[in-house]
Amino acid sequence: MALTCTDILTQTPHGLCCPMGGFHIDPVRPVARALITHGHSDHARAGHGAVLATRETLRIMAARYGADFAGSSEAAALGEERRIGDVTVRFVPAGHVLGSAQIVIEAGGCRIVVSGDYKREADPTCRPFELVPCDVFITEATFGLPVFRHPPARDEIAKLLESVALFPERAHLVGVYALGKAQRVMALIRAAGHDAPIYLHGALEPLTALYKSEGIDLGDTPKATAAKKSELAGRIVLAPPSATQDLWSRRLPDPVTAFASGWMRVRARARQKGVELPLVISDHADWDDLCGTIAETGAGEVWVTHGQEDALVHWCRTRGLAARPLHMLGYGDEEEGGAAEAARLPAGPDETTVAAGHTGDSS
Ligand SMILES: [Zn+2]
Ligand SMILES: [Zn+2]
Repeated sequence: MALTCTDILTQTPHGLCCPMGGFHIDPVRPVARALITHGHSDHARAGHGAVLATRETLRIMAARYGADFAGSSEAAALGEERRIGDVTVRFVPAGHVLGSAQIVIEAGGCRIVVSGDYKREADPTCRPFELVPCDVFITEATFGLPVFRHPPARDEIAKLLESVALFPERAHLVGVYALGKAQRVMALIRAAGHDAPIYLHGALEPLTALYKSEGIDLGDTPKATAAKKSELAGRIVLAPPSATQDLWSRRLPDPVTAFASGWMRVRARARQKGVELPLVISDHADWDDLCGTIAETGAGEVWVTHGQEDALVHWCRTRGLAARPLHMLGYGDEEEGGAAEAARLPAGPDETTVAAGHTGDSS
């Protein structure tokens, strides 16, 4: 009897399950055996019996949850095939954050690629996305609407550095998510030639230290709380998005508030968060890259998960591809504001006003 791809991978309340291999991928509840695509907390949870992930992802999980985050763990070398039950599995770079991987599953002549989260834009802090031709491609859809087109990240960093030069008496407080975005923003600032210290909120320190220990050069990154207020004038300070609004930010001299996120495309979101300087920098594929990647894989079937599924499913169908939304619960990218945030989109036309040419707009 011929296998179909749905024999290989099925959807369960715990997440995607491969019964032939006896494992789940990025399960949202504890399972006996989990394969994890990357370290963001909605994909990598503690409490599984056994975890297989890249060495970097295992380090990130240990840093967040402690060394006993799973009963046992094993590092998957990128590109290396391994047999698990009746399927063959391989981890391939996804270009999302340090250690992020797509998971390729093969059995009976059918190849399925589970992308996890991914992006195609170059990122100095992680390995680039590697395209794997496949029969079924399971794509994320965090920014799966045509309104989401990310500008080059270096242009957004240039806006930040222009503002720093323009307001030497003020600090620039940039909201960034702790895993991936923080380190990528620092690396981009360094690539733009800015070599002054970049001050950090304490919550960003452990993962930044982990990135540095993996050989990623982020320059001098002292603790913001150890600096005198006057010392922070004309400096860039990174903090988790929540800290940019609260008491913590009062230690900074007249801060310009920035936020680095793909959601900053939506002007209303920036306004609502009190962001003066929105920086459209995302670790997820934008609409063009989602569509382009689907086409490049040559997959005849596409499963769309967590995010704005419907527009992407529609796009696939108009191109003759079999496509379905998975509507999986429990995933909402911590680094992009969560499923609740996604659910608020799309809103009315004035809610999705594209924030183009937005430097310094303080409305
Ligand atoms: Zn992620
Ligand atoms: Zn995700």
